[in-house]
Amino acid sequence: MSKITVIGAGNVGATCADVLAKRNVTADIVLIDVKEGFAEGKAMDLMQTVTLTDIFVRVTGVTGDFSATADSAIIVVTSGIPRKPSMTREELIGVNASIVKDVVKKALTYSPDATLIIVSNPMDAMCYLTAKISGLPRHKVIGLGGKLDGARFKYYLSQSLQVNANDIEATVIGGHGDTTMVPLVSLATCKGVPVTQLLSKEKLDAIVAATKVGGATLTKLLGTSAWYAPGAAAAFMAESILKDKKRVCACSVLLDGEYGETDIAIGVPVLLGQKGCEKIVDFPITDEERAAFKASAEATRSVNQILYDSGFFLPL
Ligand code: NAD
Repeated sequence: MSKITVIGAGNVGATCADVLAKRNVTADIVLIDVKEGFAEGKAMDLMQTVTLTDIFVRVTGVTGDFSATADSAIIVVTSGIPRKPSMTREELIGVNASIVKDVVKKALTYSPDATLIIVSNPMDAMCYLTAKISGLPRHKVIGLGGKLDGARFKYYLSQSLQVNANDIEATVIGGHGDTTMVPLVSLATCKGVPVTQLLSKEKLDAIVAATKVGGATLTKLLGTSAWYAPGAAAAFMAESILKDKKRVCACSVLLDGEYGETDIAIGVPVLLGQKGCEKIVDFPITDEERAAFKASAEATRSVNQILYDSGFFLPL
């Protein structure tokens, strides 16, 4: 099985499909959207890049027909509304929870063995909802947050250090929210040298603050949420799983005691391979970072509670 389905052919979904195609991750991509003709149009446009970029891929676009997604190895869920300037991700919860619940049910009917990558916001809550209602083992429901937030952390560090961002190693754990994410300063390095030895505390504090509102900064500039880095981050995760690359990055997964938390989906370092989240990796973080992670988990739990209070956990 090598088919990858992307649900939602909007900004993030179409970018994810484009990166998957350009990186030759699979020859079989399905884009599905609820908007009549939209996924068909995006697929046709992508197929017309084939001779221009010298790749081979088959992108199929469909409106609402989940039978076209049958036997997908990976399903990337991007369907839902994005935030507008001055909105938080949490404000999207009601609309997006209904959409995510609906599309997950339909997609799993045709691809019961798929691994799900959850992108729709508020992502940790959507990941928790999916993990709880889908009946899938927890290693097959993985949320995109830390990979993107980590890329933004690396970007801001590289700007300050004036180096190529690829020479930076940095991780962001915790919830995928402006106030909940936890950039791990203690473990960030430039070519193995701790950034704490290269930048002042004031500079590092400013970088952490910029990272946390990285999404909001772009939403303000663009009028909607960002898509290039989110789409590429989702594609990175799909590639590591499909090609069994065993890449380590922070993702939202259902915890069962790891990092001191249970019954919550939140960002932690994981190993992504053929089985999905093959391992939750224990990073040696500081007491301060551990406390920030705990506070992040509390905030994330309160968003999950909204789902409980709204009746979203009734069986599929
Ligand atoms: P978008 O509006 O460009 O695209 C969303 C698409 O979903 C639309 O084309 C819409 O028609 C489609 N859709 C809605 N309901 C559907 C359904 N039932 N079935 C199939 N398709 C449906 O939005 P976007 O910028 O691509 O963002 C998508 C989601 O991803 C948003 O919730 C956004 O907040 C989230 N997001 C998450 C991250 C992350 O790191 N987790 C990053 C960026 C965006």
